Amino acid sequence: MPAVETTGGSVDVDELGLTLIHEHFRTTDEAGRFQFPHLYDEQAEWEAAISDANAVKGHGVRTVVDPGAMFLTRDVAFSKRIADESGLNVALATGIYTYDHLPQVLFNRDEDGIAAIFLHEIEHGIQGTGIKPALIKCAADEPGVTPNVEKVHRAAARASKQSGLPIMAHSRPANQTGLQQMRIFAEEGVDPSVVHVAHTGDTDDLDYIERLLETGCWIGMDRYGLDLFLPTDRRNATMLALLERGYVDRMFISQDYCSSIDWFPPEVQVVLKEQAVPDWSMTFLFESVIPELKERGMTDKQLDQMMVENPKRWLGR
Ligand SMILES: [Zn+2]
Repeated sequence: MPAVETTGGSVDVDELGLTLIHEHFRTTDEAGRFQFPHLYDEQAEWEAAISDANAVKGHGVRTVVDPGAMFLTRDVAFSKRIADESGLNVALATGIYTYDHLPQVLFNRDEDGIAAIFLHEIEHGIQGTGIKPALIKCAADEPGVTPNVEKVHRAAARASKQSGLPIMAHSRPANQTGLQQMRIFAEEGVDPSVVHVAHTGDTDDLDYIERLLETGCWIGMDRYGLDLFLPTDRRNATMLALLERGYVDRMFISQDYCSSIDWFPPEVQVVLKEQAVPDWSMTFLFESVIPELKERGMTDKQLDQMMVENPKRWLGR
Protein backbone atom coordinates (compact mmCIF):
# COMPACT_ATOMS: atom_id res chain seq x y z
CA MET A 1 0.00 0.00 0.00
CA PRO A 2 1.46 3.39 -0.96
CA ALA A 3 2.00 5.73 1.98
CA VAL A 4 2.56 9.42 2.69
CA GLU A 5 4.83 11.05 5.27
CA THR A 6 3.04 13.23 7.84
CA THR A 7 3.96 14.83 11.16
CA GLY A 8 2.66 11.62 12.76
CA GLY A 9 4.83 9.41 10.58
CA SER A 10 4.05 7.44 7.46
CA VAL A 11 0.34 6.82 6.83
CA ASP A 12 -1.29 4.57 4.24
CA VAL A 13 -2.93 6.54 1.43
CA ASP A 14 -6.29 5.05 2.35
CA GLU A 15 -6.10 6.93 5.64
CA LEU A 16 -5.72 10.36 4.01
CA GLY A 17 -9.47 10.71 3.41
CA LEU A 18 -10.83 14.12 2.51
CA THR A 19 -7.73 16.20 1.81
CA LEU A 20 -7.06 19.92 1.50
CA ILE A 21 -4.01 19.88 -0.72
CA HIS A 22 -2.79 23.44 -0.19
CA GLU A 23 -3.39 25.43 3.00
CA HIS A 24 -1.06 27.20 5.40
CA PHE A 25 -1.48 27.21 9.17
CA ARG A 26 0.98 30.11 9.35
CA THR A 27 2.77 32.20 6.72
CA THR A 28 5.45 34.50 8.05
CA ASP A 29 8.95 35.53 7.09
CA GLU A 30 11.47 33.66 9.13
CA ALA A 31 14.14 36.39 9.07
CA GLY A 32 11.51 38.91 10.17
CA ARG A 33 10.48 36.61 13.01
CA PHE A 34 14.00 35.98 14.20
CA GLN A 35 15.13 39.62 14.07
CA PHE A 36 11.96 41.48 15.03
CA PRO A 37 9.95 39.15 17.26
CA HIS A 38 7.91 42.06 18.61
CA LEU A 39 6.04 42.08 15.28
CA TYR A 40 4.63 38.61 15.98
CA ASP A 41 2.05 37.28 18.41
CA GLU A 42 2.71 33.56 18.78
CA GLN A 43 -0.36 32.95 20.89
CA ALA A 44 -2.66 34.63 18.36
CA GLU A 45 -1.02 32.65 15.54
CA TRP A 46 -1.51 29.42 17.41
CA GLU A 47 -5.16 30.18 18.16
CA ALA A 48 -5.86 31.04 14.50
CA ALA A 49 -4.18 27.85 13.33
CA ILE A 50 -5.84 25.44 15.74
CA SER A 51 -9.21 27.05 15.20
CA ASP A 52 -8.88 26.54 11.41
CA ALA A 53 -7.67 22.97 11.92
CA ASN A 54 -10.68 22.16 14.08
CA ALA A 55 -13.03 23.94 11.66
CA VAL A 56 -11.92 21.94 8.62
CA LYS A 57 -12.07 18.78 10.67
CA GLY A 58 -15.69 19.65 11.39
CA HIS A 59 -16.27 19.56 7.63
CA GLY A 60 -14.89 16.04 7.37
CA VAL A 61 -11.32 16.89 6.37
CA ARG A 62 -8.81 14.30 7.56
CA THR A 63 -5.62 15.56 5.95
CA VAL A 64 -4.17 19.00 5.28
CA VAL A 65 -1.06 19.48 3.15
CA ASP A 66 0.78 22.58 4.40
CA PRO A 67 3.41 23.20 1.71
CA GLY A 68 5.32 25.90 3.58
CA ALA A 69 9.02 25.85 2.73
CA MET A 70 12.09 27.93 3.47
CA PHE A 71 11.12 31.63 3.80
CA LEU A 72 7.59 30.82 5.03
CA THR A 73 8.55 29.91 8.61
CA ARG A 74 8.17 26.23 8.03
CA ASP A 75 8.23 24.97 11.62
CA VAL A 76 7.80 21.27 12.10
CA ALA A 77 7.10 21.56 15.85
CA PHE A 78 4.24 24.02 15.22
CA SER A 79 2.79 21.75 12.51
CA LYS A 80 3.07 18.67 14.68
CA ARG A 81 1.26 20.37 17.53
CA ILE A 82 -1.61 21.29 15.20
CA ALA A 83 -1.84 17.72 13.99
CA ASP A 84 -1.63 16.26 17.49
CA GLU A 85 -4.22 18.57 19.01
CA SER A 86 -6.69 18.51 16.10
CA GLY A 87 -6.30 14.87 15.08
CA LEU A 88 -5.69 15.86 11.45
CA ASN A 89 -2.93 14.37 9.33
CA VAL A 90 -0.60 17.25 8.39
CA ALA A 91 1.82 16.66 5.52
CA LEU A 92 4.81 18.96 5.01
CA ALA A 93 7.29 19.93 2.30
CA THR A 94 10.99 20.34 1.87
CA GLY A 95 12.02 23.08 -0.51
CA ILE A 96 12.52 26.79 -1.03
CA TYR A 97 9.84 29.39 -1.62
CA THR A 98 11.58 32.20 -3.46
CA TYR A 99 10.60 34.36 -6.42
CA ASP A 100 14.27 35.17 -7.02
CA HIS A 101 16.43 35.97 -4.00
CA LEU A 102 18.70 33.32 -2.58
CA PRO A 103 20.87 33.95 0.49
CA GLN A 104 24.59 33.21 0.18
CA VAL A 105 24.15 29.83 1.88
CA LEU A 106 22.17 28.74 -1.17
CA PHE A 107 23.47 31.14 -3.84
CA ASN A 108 26.93 29.60 -3.50
CA ARG A 109 25.66 26.04 -3.89
CA ASP A 110 24.84 24.53 -7.26
CA GLU A 111 21.77 22.48 -8.22
CA ASP A 112 23.20 19.28 -6.80
CA GLY A 113 24.26 21.02 -3.60
CA ILE A 114 20.72 22.29 -3.02
CA ALA A 115 19.25 18.91 -3.99
CA ALA A 116 21.49 17.36 -1.32
CA ILE A 117 19.89 19.63 1.31
CA PHE A 118 16.42 18.46 0.28
CA LEU A 119 17.55 14.83 0.21
CA HIS A 120 18.97 15.11 3.72
CA GLU A 121 15.52 16.09 5.01
CA ILE A 122 13.82 13.41 2.93
CA GLU A 123 16.12 10.78 4.40
CA HIS A 124 16.63 12.00 7.97
CA GLY A 125 13.73 14.35 8.72
CA ILE A 126 13.09 18.08 8.98
CA GLN A 127 14.81 20.41 11.45
CA GLY A 128 16.43 17.69 13.50
CA THR A 129 13.23 15.70 13.97
CA GLY A 130 12.40 12.36 12.40
CA ILE A 131 9.44 13.98 10.64
CA LYS A 132 9.87 13.67 6.90
CA PRO A 133 8.50 15.76 4.05
CA ALA A 134 5.78 14.41 1.75
CA LEU A 135 6.74 16.61 -1.19
CA ILE A 136 9.26 19.06 -2.60
CA LYS A 137 8.25 22.70 -3.07
CA CYS A 138 9.57 25.33 -5.45
CA ALA A 139 8.16 28.56 -6.84
CA ALA A 140 8.12 30.91 -9.81
CA ASP A 141 6.19 34.14 -9.75
CA GLU A 142 6.22 37.64 -11.23
CA PRO A 143 9.96 37.83 -11.96
CA GLY A 144 9.57 34.61 -13.98
CA VAL A 145 12.15 31.85 -14.22
CA THR A 146 15.27 33.77 -13.15
CA PRO A 147 18.61 31.94 -12.88
CA ASN A 148 18.08 31.46 -9.12
CA VAL A 149 14.54 30.17 -9.62
CA GLU A 150 15.75 27.83 -12.35
CA LYS A 151 18.46 26.49 -10.04
CA VAL A 152 15.91 25.72 -7.31
CA HIS A 153 13.67 23.97 -9.85
CA ARG A 154 16.55 21.81 -11.11
CA ALA A 155 17.47 20.98 -7.51
CA ALA A 156 13.86 20.02 -6.78
CA ALA A 157 13.81 17.89 -9.92
CA ARG A 158 16.99 16.05 -8.97
CA ALA A 159 15.86 15.44 -5.40
CA SER A 160 12.53 14.17 -6.73
CA LYS A 161 14.17 11.79 -9.18
CA GLN A 162 16.42 10.40 -6.48
CA SER A 163 13.79 10.10 -3.75
CA GLY A 164 10.59 9.55 -5.74
CA LEU A 165 8.88 12.40 -3.87
CA PRO A 166 6.37 14.51 -5.79
CA ILE A 167 6.93 18.20 -6.58
CA MET A 168 4.60 21.13 -5.96
CA ALA A 169 5.55 24.11 -8.11
CA HIS A 170 3.97 27.45 -7.13
CA SER A 171 3.19 29.17 -10.44
CA ARG A 172 1.86 32.48 -11.77
CA PRO A 173 -0.47 32.02 -14.74
CA ALA A 174 -0.41 35.79 -15.50
CA ASN A 175 3.02 35.28 -17.04
CA GLN A 176 2.48 31.60 -17.82
CA THR A 177 5.33 30.38 -15.65
CA GLY A 178 3.83 26.89 -15.50
CA LEU A 179 4.94 26.05 -19.03
CA GLN A 180 8.52 27.13 -18.34
CA GLN A 181 8.56 25.24 -15.05
CA MET A 182 7.39 22.08 -16.80
CA ARG A 183 10.03 22.58 -19.50
CA ILE A 184 12.77 22.57 -16.82
CA PHE A 185 11.35 19.43 -15.21
CA ALA A 186 11.22 17.75 -18.63
CA GLU A 187 14.85 18.70 -19.30
CA GLU A 188 15.78 17.12 -15.98
CA GLY A 189 13.93 13.92 -16.93
CA VAL A 190 11.22 14.22 -14.27
CA ASP A 191 8.06 12.18 -14.89
CA PRO A 192 5.46 14.97 -15.36
CA SER A 193 2.88 12.97 -13.41
CA VAL A 194 4.74 13.70 -10.15
CA VAL A 195 4.45 17.49 -10.68
CA HIS A 196 1.58 19.59 -9.37
CA VAL A 197 1.52 23.11 -10.81
CA ALA A 198 -0.07 25.12 -8.01
CA HIS A 199 -2.26 28.18 -8.56
CA THR A 200 -3.19 27.26 -12.13
CA GLY A 201 -6.75 28.23 -11.18
CA ASP A 202 -5.67 31.89 -10.93
CA THR A 203 -6.52 32.16 -14.63
CA ASP A 204 -9.58 31.35 -16.73
CA ASP A 205 -7.49 31.15 -19.90
CA LEU A 206 -8.51 27.62 -20.87
CA ASP A 207 -6.07 27.58 -23.75
CA TYR A 208 -3.15 28.11 -21.34
CA ILE A 209 -4.52 25.56 -18.87
CA GLU A 210 -4.94 22.92 -21.57
CA ARG A 211 -1.43 23.53 -22.89
CA LEU A 212 -0.18 23.01 -19.34
CA LEU A 213 -2.27 19.83 -18.92
CA GLU A 214 -0.78 18.52 -22.18
CA THR A 215 2.61 18.39 -20.44
CA GLY A 216 1.16 15.69 -18.15
CA CYS A 217 1.14 17.57 -14.83
CA TRP A 218 -1.49 18.02 -12.13
CA ILE A 219 -3.04 21.46 -11.69
CA GLY A 220 -4.07 23.28 -8.53
CA MET A 221 -7.44 25.03 -8.59
CA ASP A 222 -6.28 26.01 -5.19
CA ARG A 223 -6.85 29.66 -4.40
CA TYR A 224 -10.60 29.84 -3.85
CA GLY A 225 -11.36 33.07 -2.01
CA LEU A 226 -8.33 34.97 -3.30
CA ASP A 227 -10.49 37.24 -5.41
CA LEU A 228 -7.65 39.64 -6.12
CA PHE A 229 -6.16 37.00 -8.43
CA LEU A 230 -9.49 35.73 -9.82
CA PRO A 231 -13.00 36.05 -8.39
CA THR A 232 -14.96 32.97 -7.37
CA ASP A 233 -17.50 33.08 -10.21
CA ARG A 234 -14.70 32.92 -12.79
CA ARG A 235 -12.89 30.18 -10.83
CA ASN A 236 -16.13 28.18 -10.79
CA ALA A 237 -16.75 28.66 -14.52
CA THR A 238 -13.21 27.44 -15.24
CA MET A 239 -13.60 24.48 -12.90
CA LEU A 240 -16.89 23.44 -14.52
CA ALA A 241 -15.43 23.80 -18.03
CA LEU A 242 -12.45 21.61 -17.09
CA LEU A 243 -14.73 19.00 -15.49
CA GLU A 244 -16.78 19.04 -18.69
CA ARG A 245 -13.64 18.45 -20.73
CA GLY A 246 -12.73 15.41 -18.63
CA TYR A 247 -9.83 16.65 -16.48
CA VAL A 248 -11.25 15.62 -13.10
CA ASP A 249 -8.40 13.17 -12.53
CA ARG A 250 -5.78 15.93 -12.94
CA MET A 251 -7.10 18.65 -10.62
CA PHE A 252 -6.95 19.63 -6.98
CA ILE A 253 -9.28 22.01 -5.19
CA SER A 254 -8.10 24.09 -2.23
CA GLN A 255 -7.80 27.67 -0.92
CA ASP A 256 -4.14 28.47 -0.18
CA TYR A 257 -5.52 30.03 2.97
CA CYS A 258 -3.09 31.33 5.59
CA SER A 259 -4.34 31.18 9.19
CA SER A 260 -1.98 34.10 9.83
CA ILE A 261 0.20 36.07 7.45
CA ASP A 262 2.68 38.90 7.95
CA TRP A 263 2.83 40.28 4.42
CA PHE A 264 1.20 43.58 5.41
CA PRO A 265 1.08 45.68 8.56
CA PRO A 266 -1.87 44.54 10.72
CA GLU A 267 -3.96 47.64 10.06
CA VAL A 268 -3.54 47.26 6.27
CA GLN A 269 -4.30 43.57 6.55
CA VAL A 270 -7.68 44.23 8.12
CA VAL A 271 -8.67 46.52 5.24
CA LEU A 272 -7.35 44.13 2.60
CA LYS A 273 -9.24 41.23 4.12
CA GLU A 274 -12.49 43.19 4.06
CA GLN A 275 -12.07 44.76 0.65
CA ALA A 276 -9.93 42.42 -1.46
CA VAL A 277 -10.52 38.90 -0.10
CA PRO A 278 -13.71 38.98 2.03
CA ASP A 279 -14.52 35.28 1.45
CA TRP A 280 -11.04 33.83 1.94
CA SER A 281 -10.96 31.26 4.75
CA MET A 282 -10.03 27.62 5.33
CA THR A 283 -13.71 26.62 5.18
CA PHE A 284 -14.93 28.73 2.23
CA LEU A 285 -14.94 25.67 -0.06
CA PHE A 286 -17.31 23.79 2.21
CA GLU A 287 -19.56 26.70 3.08
CA SER A 288 -20.00 28.16 -0.39
CA VAL A 289 -17.95 26.86 -3.32
CA ILE A 290 -18.74 23.14 -3.18
CA PRO A 291 -22.51 23.64 -2.71
CA GLU A 292 -22.55 26.00 -5.68
CA LEU A 293 -20.46 23.73 -7.91
CA LYS A 294 -22.78 20.83 -7.04
CA GLU A 295 -25.82 22.90 -7.89
CA ARG A 296 -24.23 23.64 -11.26
CA GLY A 297 -23.53 20.00 -12.08
CA MET A 298 -20.40 18.80 -10.27
CA THR A 299 -21.07 15.27 -9.01
CA ASP A 300 -20.14 13.76 -5.64
CA LYS A 301 -17.90 11.38 -7.52
CA GLN A 302 -16.00 14.25 -9.15
CA LEU A 303 -15.53 15.96 -5.79
CA ASP A 304 -14.32 12.71 -4.25
CA GLN A 305 -11.88 12.29 -7.12
CA MET A 306 -10.37 15.75 -6.56
CA MET A 307 -10.26 15.70 -2.75
CA VAL A 308 -9.68 12.01 -1.92
CA GLU A 309 -8.44 10.00 -4.91
CA ASN A 310 -6.13 12.55 -6.56
CA PRO A 311 -4.24 13.32 -3.33
CA LYS A 312 -3.67 9.58 -2.86
CA ARG A 313 -2.39 9.18 -6.41
CA TRP A 314 -0.15 12.26 -6.36
CA LEU A 315 1.29 11.87 -2.85
CA GLY A 316 1.35 8.11 -2.35
CA ARG A 317 4.78 6.45 -2.60
ZN1 LIG B 1 0.68 28.38 -0.78
